[in-house]
Amino acid sequence: MAWRRGAVENIDIFANAEADTELADLASDSVIVFDLTGNIRYWNPASERLYGWPAIGAIGRNLSDMSSNPAFQIAQWQSLRQEGRWEGPVERRTLWGGRITASVRQTVRCNADGEPRDIVEYGRGATKGSHLSSAPNADVHRFAAASWALDISRVRPLLDRMGDLINEGAAAELAQQPDWMDELLEGTRIVNVNERAAHLVGGHVGRSRMIGQPVGAFWPRVGRGVLAELIAAVAMDHSPGVITRMRKLASDGVLRDPVITAWGSEEDGRPDIVFVAVNGATDDDRSFWYLRASEERYRKLIHHLPVALLQVDASRMAPVFEELRDNGVNDLNAYLDEHPELVDFMKKVVRVTEVNQRAVALFNGTVPADFIGSVGFLYEVSPETPRRIMLARFEGRRNYTEIMKVRTFDGRLIDVRLSVTFPAPSERLDVTLLSLENITERLRTERQLHQFETEFTHAARISMLGEFATSIAHEVNQPLSAIVTNGETSLRWLSRDNPNIAKVEQLTARIVSSARHASEIVQRIRGMAAKHEPARIALDLNQVIEEALLFVRHDIDAKSIHLSARLACDLPIVLADRVQLQQVIVNLLVNSIQAIAQESRSVRQIDLATYEDGEGAVTFSIHDSGPGIPVCNLDSIFDSFFTTKETGMGIGLAICQSIILAHGGSICASNHPDGGAQFRFSLPVLPKPN
Ligand code: ADP
Repeated sequence: MAWRRGAVENIDIFANAEADTELADLASDSVIVFDLTGNIRYWNPASERLYGWPAIGAIGRNLSDMSSNPAFQIAQWQSLRQEGRWEGPVERRTLWGGRITASVRQTVRCNADGEPRDIVEYGRGATKGSHLSSAPNADVHRFAAASWALDISRVRPLLDRMGDLINEGAAAELAQQPDWMDELLEGTRIVNVNERAAHLVGGHVGRSRMIGQPVGAFWPRVGRGVLAELIAAVAMDHSPGVITRMRKLASDGVLRDPVITAWGSEEDGRPDIVFVAVNGATDDDRSFWYLRASEERYRKLIHHLPVALLQVDASRMAPVFEELRDNGVNDLNAYLDEHPELVDFMKKVVRVTEVNQRAVALFNGTVPADFIGSVGFLYEVSPETPRRIMLARFEGRRNYTEIMKVRTFDGRLIDVRLSVTFPAPSERLDVTLLSLENITERLRTERQLHQFETEFTHAARISMLGEFATSIAHEVNQPLSAIVTNGETSLRWLSRDNPNIAKVEQLTARIVSSARHASEIVQRIRGMAAKHEPARIALDLNQVIEEALLFVRHDIDAKSIHLSARLACDLPIVLADRVQLQQVIVNLLVNSIQAIAQESRSVRQIDLATYEDGEGAVTFSIHDSGPGIPVCNLDSIFDSFFTTKETGMGIGLAICQSIILAHGGSICASNHPDGGAQFRFSLPVLPKPN
């Protein structure tokens, strides 16, 4: 076979620089460098494609391991020694155990002092397709293997335990024991992976971060059993030479018809290293480099976004969900009640693969690498969140948002708004994005605002009480006068020669009742004046109206206003804060009294009414005979500090509105067809217990 003289051939590619090996990486012919004893030092991607052995597994191994004709090799060596070069066909063993004839040209390179240093070999398949026929599938993409070098030293004790089972030929049974399998895959550490492996299953973690991690953290769910089984088979086989095991896998959504090969050898001084290669065509025909370039852009974009972002790989949950559906689980919520361990599983297997600078800053971390690993840490103080995310995912939603607490790396608790964006198509859960917005400050401000509001409402109530001093004095005075009168009468009855005890008894009972009444009035005033956190209780709105009237009845009487109240019987109960509702009603009453006072009409009337509106709400209505509200003011009267009164503050109606809205109700003002203003508010009815 004639050699085409190409760029690669003309350069002394391994003079020293790394850039040169990069060039050889790009060569379309196989380029191999080995030392004078045959130990392979360099193995380019074209060699991976030609022979199937990935560089990770080939470098460090002796070329004779791959030779199927040792006798022939000796002649070749002699020629190399004498002439410094050799050219001809060689027969090699492929990764899959087949044979391939390659045309190679070998050149000995010497040191500056003329001593032979190593041998560079260029090679290509001798007959078109000859190597393909030895591969399990004649698809050239298959040869770009995803390869792994795995350290099994930690799982030796486990393997010893399982040894008997394997020796009995029960390897298939091993795959049926997920615990055993997980233990093996968690204990087996990645020593090295090639770019393709990192690309296929490493998410965006990158090669360097996969190294040192358990292989189980990255290996797709499909084929975990097969991997465990192959590792065990290679590790437990102590026969001499290279032990190779190969299995076909079910398609995993990333590769078509993948084939997995594991091999290792106790003879080459690395007994605890098992090499694994996965071959198969990707469904995606975009080149690896194209993908890498777009990933790079994506990564840069993510890193500079001004939002804290975590990219997680949740791909191991996809088959779980699929299996649940296949088993007829439609109500995941109910299922999780019985299988809470699935949530723990999710927290373990869903892994953070990428974080941006904002996220590092949010958690007060040092480097993005601090975050790489299982996502569980995120939910440490919000243990219910992962379950809700799972439910959203199961329902096929594209987004999920909630406010949760997280603990930062320096131990602070912060409030964040978490938004989860699930990828499309939904089966590809490997790029699920979590964005976190720190809302601690905002919530604090909101709490402060609420606090101000409460204090403001309280202050308004106190100032209102001041205005009612006359009314209140009058209300308390009535029972007190009754007590005095009844007390004096009793004394008179007692001072008679023949004291009328029965009469005194009757009068004393009245005294007690009046004293109680006075005490109740004082209690209510104190209730209005007291500062308290709003507390919702079940209330009868009619009763609250009666209580509110206590504060204004005297004023109403003094101003000769006629008050009518049509209060519905059996009004449904509402859930409300008693004092706040009293405040609303008193405010509305006072406004009506003041409005009527402006008019010099003979009709001085306030009509109160309560009714159930039939749509789950009870309504309070107040209609007065005042001048009504100019239409142009109707939109503004609930605004804070809107007033048309000379000494008005303009906060009464604003407070009424905020109280009613906080109770889930509504309030409105209008002009009554018969004249005067009408205000109505509605509150939701408390659902009756079943
Ligand atoms: P203030 O009473 O201090 O003015 P409010 O918030 O209670 O504050 O009322 C705001 C404005 O709404 C009043 O100044 C008045 O113009 C109008 N208003 C409120 N109630 C009535 C009513 N019953 N009739 C006519 N106008 C009213």
